[in-house]
Amino acid sequence: MSQHVIIVGGGITGCMTAMELIQHGYRVTIVERNQIASQTSGESSWAGAGLVFPLLPWMYRDAVSHLALAGANLYPSICEQLLNATGIDPELTPCGMMIRPPFDEKVALQWCHYNQVTYEKIGDNLLLPQVSQVRNPRLLQALKQWLILHGATLLENTQLLPIQEKNQLDSWETSTGETLHADTFVVTSGAWSYELLKQTAATLNIKPMRGQILLYQLPTDTLPHILYQDGFYMLQRRDGHVLAGSTLEDVGFDTGTTESARMEMQAKAEAMLPELKDSPILKHWSGLRPGTTDNLPTISQHPSIANLYLNTGHFRYGVTMAPASAKIVTSLIMGKPPLLEPMPYRCDAITVQRGVVHD
Ligand SMILES: Cc1cc2nc3c(=O)[nH]c(=O)nc-3n(C[C@H](O)[C@H](O)[C@H](O)COP(=O)(O)OP(=O)(O)OC[C@H]3O[C@@H](n4cnc5c(N)ncnc54)[C@H](O)[C@@H]3O)c2cc1C
Repeated sequence: MSQHVIIVGGGITGCMTAMELIQHGYRVTIVERNQIASQTSGESSWAGAGLVFPLLPWMYRDAVSHLALAGANLYPSICEQLLNATGIDPELTPCGMMIRPPFDEKVALQWCHYNQVTYEKIGDNLLLPQVSQVRNPRLLQALKQWLILHGATLLENTQLLPIQEKNQLDSWETSTGETLHADTFVVTSGAWSYELLKQTAATLNIKPMRGQILLYQLPTDTLPHILYQDGFYMLQRRDGHVLAGSTLEDVGFDTGTTESARMEMQAKAEAMLPELKDSPILKHWSGLRPGTTDNLPTISQHPSIANLYLNTGHFRYGVTMAPASAKIVTSLIMGKPPLLEPMPYRCDAITVQRGVVHD
């Protein structure tokens, strides 16, 4: 009989990990405390904007670029596979990203050359034409449907409790007193990962970093590219919806939205795209990113529990990184050489100050 893996958390990281494991012959159960592909209380994967690329990639360490570019490269084939199997289109769109000054042009162009990323200089702006966006709520719906069609068990509205110190994990308790058994476990519970693991991995440094976003509607094709300037970005979906954001806030597990962020983001959005002055804000939401130092996730075996793996802490680029990250953790579970180097168990301090900083 095939090995049974329980995945804790049904966001993008959990769903992509499940897909990868199933394709390698594993039997998979995802345990999700809310509903997969929905926004209930701060799940980051639904709330994100869906850029399939880092915002200013040259600002990060090479490991972020490697993981993000590897993830971005896997997206076209995954989305095609999902569309063919489920009929749900994740709307992966190679719209390009236009970066307006200020940015360090010399460093940016060096990074593009080094990573073989195509660019065009348009006046003072830098266009990265290969950058894509994906409609992340649709992507999650497609993944959920694909997993159901491929025999995954989805235990929704089921919360797992923090685990105690041990060397081997045979079972895991739910908050309603059920005991779930598996051969292997993978934690993909995003911003909540530390809460789940703090008794066994006290130095794991993952904390919630809230992001707020605004939604507008404009005629389709008003915004041909993702537009980025000075820590703020906007992008348009195929149906005309425009997303504008986002904030980067260290406010714990508070999933609310604030009037001050709304006003600040509205002013920035209207300054960048004056057409928005006549458009009402349709929606304003927030999500909790799994914050880590330097945007580097932990993709590794648990430091002391042999059959427990971590795939968490993807911070600002978890949508982009998810496919590559799923491949790495799957290869670790299989004991095979990874596609990329595992991201080491992270324990460095996060230094972002409390309060709102726009990213
Ligand atoms: C405003 C905003 C904009 C963003 N934009 C982008 C972008 O453009 N591009 C990009 O690449 N990334 C973006 N991100 C980041 C990206 O969304 C995250 O890195 C990514 O979604 C993390 O996915 P995850 O599956 O690890 O976490 P989550 O999506 O948060 O999923 C974790 C899941 O675990 C469940 N869970 C938690 N604890 C338990 C438990 N005890 N038992 C059972 N289930 C549990 C939660 O309910 C949740 O569903 C953005 C994020 C935000 C907030």
